[in-house]
Amino acid sequence: MAEKDDIVVEAVNLNKEYYLGEITVPALREINMKVKKGEFIVIMGPSGSGKSTLLNIIGGLDNPTSGKVYINGQDISEMSDGTLTELRAQEIGFIFQFYNLVPVLSAFENVELPMMVNGISEKQGKKRAKELLEMVGLADRMHHRPDELSGGQRQRVSIARALANKPSIVVADEPTGDVDTRTGDEILELMHDLNKNMGVTFIVITHDPNIAEHCDRLIRIVDGQIASDKPTVHEILSITNEELRAYKGFTGYISDSR
Ligand code: ADP
Ligand code: MG
Repeated sequence: MAEKDDIVVEAVNLNKEYYLGEITVPALREINMKVKKGEFIVIMGPSGSGKSTLLNIIGGLDNPTSGKVYINGQDISEMSDGTLTELRAQEIGFIFQFYNLVPVLSAFENVELPMMVNGISEKQGKKRAKELLEMVGLADRMHHRPDELSGGQRQRVSIARALANKPSIVVADEPTGDVDTRTGDEILELMHDLNKNMGVTFIVITHDPNIAEHCDRLIRIVDGQIASDKPTVHEILSITNEELRAYKGFTGYISDSR
């Protein structure tokens, strides 16, 4: 059915508990969400509310305590480690707050790497790495190593890397948390353009209230639960910094990197 094919990610009754000695920490409680192909979803919520946990589970990096995640209709809990690793490599691009680039490799090599791992021919990989780096505005920085690039440039490299294997979904955990506001806006704009031009689905965790212009749908997480899930582009404009700070445990725009 066309409708069903349009769902790239579905989370059903997700629960996640962490166990610290005698104490059980509930990180996610009964999360249900469906992500449609081509959506640009923003996830907001106080520090410690479960945003990273949710993204990691959706991206197949972590397991829920109970509940299911379907990627392109496939139940990932039923997959072998090998199959899941393959699916992750092919279908999911990851962008992290602190980039997670390989420090000894150039920007170009960092983008090439996931394609090499995925068995793309060297020639094709090089061609695509070049195209992607041009697309993110780094044509003149391809052969620099991460420590020779600014934070914003590093994040552009990691965006190019996330797109290397033509994933159906890109997940980004506070991608602008380590850069200044202006650079952050540029990064979000770039992701928005890529979303519109390439049709790649994005799920982005951010504390940036300016992201309104860039998102189709805003999901707010509070205490491990979905507090609201709204499709309106402008809804977020009603959130002021004061309201954000009033969230329990919110510690500022630059948050933890868990
Ligand atoms: P957010 O990304 O919204 O800041 P997290 O998903 O990182 O929140 O964390 C949600 C909750 O789970 C928090 O209470 C956090 O302390 C807890 N938590 C996260 N990771 C772990 C872990 N590896 N072990 C124990 N508790 C964890
Ligand atoms: Mg987090």
